Amino acid sequence: MGLSKPFCSGAEDGFDLWLRRSVPAVKVQPMSRDTPSSTRLPGAPGIAVALRRSARARRYSLRISQLDGKVTLTLPLRASLKEGLSFLHERESWILDHLRTRPAAVVVGHGQTVPFEGRTLAVVPGDGRGPRVERGQLLVPGDPARAGRRVQAFLKQAARDRLAAASDRHAAALGRGYRRLTLRDTRSRWGSCSASGDLMYSWRLVMAPAAVLEYVAAHEVAHLEQMNHSPAFWALVAQLCPGHEAPRTWLRREGATLHRYRFFD
Ligand SMILES: [Zn+2]
Repeated sequence: MGLSKPFCSGAEDGFDLWLRRSVPAVKVQPMSRDTPSSTRLPGAPGIAVALRRSARARRYSLRISQLDGKVTLTLPLRASLKEGLSFLHERESWILDHLRTRPAAVVVGHGQTVPFEGRTLAVVPGDGRGPRVERGQLLVPGDPARAGRRVQAFLKQAARDRLAAASDRHAAALGRGYRRLTLRDTRSRWGSCSASGDLMYSWRLVMAPAAVLEYVAAHEVAHLEQMNHSPAFWALVAQLCPGHEAPRTWLRREGATLHRYRFFD
């Protein structure tokens, strides 16, 4: 019994969905009713910026979605719109820089590449029953129109095998068991562990270097014993996965790139 809500948060695990910049809202005014739903950047009128009032916001904040590049300016309910817009305009070059360097989406199929355990594999036609890795290539048999789906199924199966093996090993080292392991395509977190012992992982982890998958499994399994991110928790992670800092940094810096791959439209 107990809490069943997954504990582990995505931000702690290094996948930041949003890029953020914020400044405190200094002027408190009567609530503005005339906030438009969007505006455009003066220097780049092709770029729309969604405007959002939030009761919870205490600061102006600017977010760029790593997934679709949508730009959103959030304003506290009673903060000045004019000041919010001047904050937006000040950060215009920051926004444009990030939009320029945002990785483009890749629709996986024959002739494309896909990362697998940190290596880049060329996806090419193959024979036999299912996809297989051979000499830096991922051979995918069957209808080319279905190649993306078959690559995704291959990745999910490989993710399940590797995440189950890593979770079993870490859980055995802790002398604990977990209840269930599920895979999802989560955008806000790489893994979670519930108080009832259910582990959840993103199958996209199998595209990252093997040490990254190892670290996330160690992280979630460590939550079976420590349902927090205390120093005791991190000591446990270090014990299960020595050198975990590097994969953690990798996720923070490179994790978003794993989400650029699409397997079918
Ligand atoms: Zn955690």
